[in-house]
Amino acid sequence: MNFLMFGAPMAGKGTLANILAEKYNLPTISMGELLRNTSNQEVKEYQARGEMVPMQIVLDVIKERLSQEDVQNGYILDGFPRTPEQLTKFVEQKIANIDVVVDLEVPYERLLERVTGRRTCKECGYIYNTSWNLGYEQCPKCGGEWGIRSDDNEETYKKRYEVYLNETLPILEYFKNEGKVIVVEGQSEPEDSYQNMINAFKASNIKGLKEFIEG
Ligand SMILES: [Zn+2]
Repeated sequence: MNFLMFGAPMAGKGTLANILAEKYNLPTISMGELLRNTSNQEVKEYQARGEMVPMQIVLDVIKERLSQEDVQNGYILDGFPRTPEQLTKFVEQKIANIDVVVDLEVPYERLLERVTGRRTCKECGYIYNTSWNLGYEQCPKCGGEWGIRSDDNEETYKKRYEVYLNETLPILEYFKNEGKVIVVEGQSEPEDSYQNMINAFKASNIKGLKEFIEG
């Protein structure tokens, strides 16, 4: 089964993908990571110049990754396609055969709480969130002081969220029409969201999904 993770920034897609990956032994393909770690020389040159990598090159990098052996029995794709234009190319060039799209839904207010509550240890980089209500006054790993990243504020997040609403959310329609979208309520802890997702998988009509989950 090939999964695609979908949701607003800070919805928790990456965390959910990692839990699913671990339990079902699936590789995750995060677009951001893929481009950071690629050996593709052209990509590196664009990045070194601080320029955007042209879409066709990005598509070629994904195609190459999806041709590798470890993904032939399924994978979890995260972070692509992100715009209607990318989706068009994705479909035209038959980049991936997605079976299930996980639409992780978290209310805006909750997302904002996660953003403004994020703390990073100044010493070791450990990330904590005050919305977890664990009462850590300092880093539980090393005792370091908490710092707040300069872009973890409402104004910056609101801009990212608007980009998501205007540019990314529209592509969900395509997958809805294909009958591939599973809505997952994601406002509580990752393990709860994971359980919501598994329950939704078991109740779905997507061919082969229930069997895959129940092994
Ligand atoms: Zn620390």
